Amino acid sequence: MTTPLAPWRAAARAPITRSISSIAVHCTATPAGRAVSAAQIRGWHLAKGWKDIGYHFVVGLDGTIEVGRPKAQPGAHVEGFNAHSIGVVYVGGTDAAGKPLDTRTPAQKAALLDLLAELKGAHPAAVIKGHRDYSPDRNRDGQITPNEWLKACPCFDALTEYARVGRPA
Ligand SMILES: [Zn+2]
Repeated sequence: MTTPLAPWRAAARAPITRSISSIAVHCTATPAGRAVSAAQIRGWHLAKGWKDIGYHFVVGLDGTIEVGRPKAQPGAHVEGFNAHSIGVVYVGGTDAAGKPLDTRTPAQKAALLDLLAELKGAHPAAVIKGHRDYSPDRNRDGQITPNEWLKACPCFDALTEYARVGRPA
């Protein structure tokens, strides 16, 4: 007997027709320790006039992964890059005063690795990046440096931390 796949895992593995060149990691920009559900985020995004939640996956404080917008559809999470990306968000990203902070819980870190490995398995050519890494390289030195970030999201160096996800150790 095989155990049925968790809904998020099935969603992450699902074949889709649009090509995926990157996986963007975001934070919800909410204070450390405040629980936020995919349903709440969907509510925020519908209130902005969007057709659905902007992200494809939501990683809660306890490491629960919820499915957001279906992966087959472009999300609404990195302006100009939605057509060929998948958006993943972890709940948190600021301190109590709203200042950017890497607030990932151990459970979120583990869940992000699990989710990103699944997505990388389904889309091997995709580069895993933080939202801030999509900022324009204004001085054209080939690197998106902190002075060039349009925003701090996801408040940690996802590009470096996840560079080896899905590759042999
Ligand atoms: Zn973001």
